[in-house]
Amino acid sequence: MLEIKNLHVKLEEEDKVILKGVDLTVEAGKVHAIMGPNGSGKSTLSYVLSGRGGYEVTEGSATLDGEELLDMEPEERAAAGLFLAFQYPVEIPGVGNMTFLRTAVNAQRKARGEEEVSAADFLKLVRAQAKMLNIDADMLKRPVNVGFSGGEKKRNEILQMAMLEPRMCILDETDSGLDVDAMRLVADGVNALRDGKRGFLVITHYQRLLDHIKPDVVHIMADGRIIKTGGPELALEVEENGYADILAEVQ
Ligand code: ADP
Ligand code: MG
Ligand code: MG
Repeated sequence: MLEIKNLHVKLEEEDKVILKGVDLTVEAGKVHAIMGPNGSGKSTLSYVLSGRGGYEVTEGSATLDGEELLDMEPEERAAAGLFLAFQYPVEIPGVGNMTFLRTAVNAQRKARGEEEVSAADFLKLVRAQAKMLNIDADMLKRPVNVGFSGGEKKRNEILQMAMLEPRMCILDETDSGLDVDAMRLVADGVNALRDGKRGFLVITHYQRLLDHIKPDVVHIMADGRIIKTGGPELALEVEENGYADILAEVQ
């Protein structure tokens, strides 16, 4: 359902090409992982899919259920069912977490032509999801991410993901210095939201995360391209031998 074809991306301000023909399909219900050396373009891929500025798509496409994402505004992408979790969640002082979540959910409903959720229904919904994800109700009352520990930010991100009921979740966990507990949180959250229909694209430097998430497919990205695709054993191979052998193989 997420289909990326021959995606070429350069920096808007410079003549620097970062993605050089990415091809990738994530089927409904599957968890795909992307690993790869630092600087290979993994985060750029997630930014471009989210619609962040500063990048120019020069060739290729990225569709979700057949709809071109690259032509959409960021909020339209969310309405189409795309969710992106980033390495560094933003803090929003003065905005309560509950208000933030409700605004996000209603913006998405509006974009989908659905009715707003009532305050009472929203409360029920958020409490149920928080319970499922083992999130303390106190966290819902605090301003978004302000003074949250790394683990709390992760929890909150997973809660946002659960509330928006996305079709396709993209998580960029690269270089974020995830400790073991935070890694567990992310993995538990993803596993709780795996339902056989929702797709996941998990970007990570660490094989360890994949011990807990168990991807269906693993891709290795290097120098702006997917250079190898395999099963979970590919992540173990990277864990043991690093990227050198794989890079040499494709040269
Ligand atoms: P990864 O996530 O795999 O480590 P990135 O997508 O962060 O890789 O970066 C890929 C390459 O593009 C790197 O060489 C990085 O320095 C460069 N790059 C990405 N975004 C920018 C930017 N906004 N300005 C300058 N260089 C950038
Ligand atoms: Mg990096
Ligand atoms: Mg990165």
